[in-house]
Amino acid sequence: MQELFEKDLDDDLRRQMLVYGQRHDAQTGLMNFPAFQEALSAWMDSQPGATIALLWIDVLNLRREFALWGRHGADSLISRAADLLRAAVDSGELVGRYSSRCFLVALKAEAPAPLEKRRIQAILDALSPMRVPGAQGMVEVAAGVAFWPANTTSLDDLIRFASIAASRAAYVKSRSVLPFRTGMDQHLMRDHRLEIEMLEGMNNNQFRIVYQPKIELATGRILGAEALIRWDHRQDGAIMPSEFIPIAERSDLIHLILRFTLRTALMDARRWEEAGIDLPLIAVNLSWANMRRDDFLASIREMLDEHPLSRTRIELEITESVLFDDEDLFDLRVRQLKNLGLRVAIDDFGTRYIGFNMLKRTPLDTLKIDRCFIHGLHRTDEARSLCQTIVAMGRQLRLRTVAEGVEEQAELDTLRALGCDAVQGFLIQRPLRARAMAEFIRDWPVRMRKFGFSSDGESRLSRPSRIG
Ligand code: C2E
Ligand code: MG
Ligand code: MG
Repeated sequence: MQELFEKDLDDDLRRQMLVYGQRHDAQTGLMNFPAFQEALSAWMDSQPGATIALLWIDVLNLRREFALWGRHGADSLISRAADLLRAAVDSGELVGRYSSRCFLVALKAEAPAPLEKRRIQAILDALSPMRVPGAQGMVEVAAGVAFWPANTTSLDDLIRFASIAASRAAYVKSRSVLPFRTGMDQHLMRDHRLEIEMLEGMNNNQFRIVYQPKIELATGRILGAEALIRWDHRQDGAIMPSEFIPIAERSDLIHLILRFTLRTALMDARRWEEAGIDLPLIAVNLSWANMRRDDFLASIREMLDEHPLSRTRIELEITESVLFDDEDLFDLRVRQLKNLGLRVAIDDFGTRYIGFNMLKRTPLDTLKIDRCFIHGLHRTDEARSLCQTIVAMGRQLRLRTVAEGVEEQAELDTLRALGCDAVQGFLIQRPLRARAMAEFIRDWPVRMRKFGFSSDGESRLSRPSRIG
């Protein structure tokens, strides 16, 4: 009898263990996705009047931690995160694991109010200072939150909306949390569609390059032109690079864009040269996402060999829309480009991560002052003195300073007085197709007077030139 009882208990325990194992994640002990869904559904059914905040948390640097510290490091990071999440929720609230790098948390919420946002941010902050054993780095997380029933009354959509908000949050910056907003899903769909259609667009000649001139302030001569990409989409019409470059940067498409832009610019510059049209410098934008690739240098070299042009006439403008994460690699890549004989510029200076130390350490040629510092510069002392400081810093580091987005004559005059080297902007000329750019170069000696330059190469408000 006793034996039979023990056998029954044993079977029962075994069954329970089996069920538990099927519903929980072996590594962290958290509910797996089906179990989480079930528990959430039961919560919704039992308390129809409740408000629930569903949090989708992505660990962004899991792959990197795995690469650095192996499976043990990555696993202990995730286990520790799971413990912290479990400790952060109250009884009746839920924590689950969706995939290796993604957690789900369902919280009782009063309403989609700032209070919830503070609590959610506190949860993320608790996760962030976590360290992997033996590692220096911190865990990077991004989260999205959707509210039931304010955003949706469907359980599937609630989870999907939180994931959509998390993917936007990861894009903005790590350790951030974004609430789901209507339209975010359409935004994501459009991004996804554009990503697919970009390759097709490349193959069907939907992309083209326009050029915007840069003018040297001391002499009024044309210093060069910047190549800017345009996408004439079959259905959506013109799409600007600010919309599709960030999408391209997430995949290999950014590589195709660089190939297209650099090749086209080199071919056009060559054509102008053969037609006797003088353009001292051609500038092409380069994303940090391009520079991180292993085959970056080889592909640049290959394109330069294919389309020979004096290398000192080519400048690469480094933009930083992708999170800048490796100063040593940046320094190495710039030195490699310099060894090829190219010029290197920092684009949109003052808006992102590249600071004074990197300018000092890395052998750059040009600083492009972002247009946010230029706009209305003559109207406030603060903007003027900020620009003055950047120009002085450029001079100290022997960098050419180019002001971007100059729209008014007064801005140009102020920049000239401050000793900035060159300007680029709608005031002088909006970006032009190659043929129109050639005409602009031809006509410039006449047009330049309009901007206070004299065609004998001296500015009416002259000051000594320092550009070599
Ligand atoms: P950027 O390299 O800083 O280029 C300057 C942007 O400012 C261009 O926008 C240009 O049309 C615009 N602009 C010029 N003058 C003015 C002005 O006076 N006022 C105003 N409001 N805007 C002015 P665009 O062509 O839309 O390009 C935006 C950004 O997209 C570029 O900023 C660059 O970061 C990126 N981009 C453009 N083409 C390429 C490319 O071929 N490759 C990569 N990686 N990025 C590119
Ligand atoms: Mg640029
Ligand atoms: Mg710029």
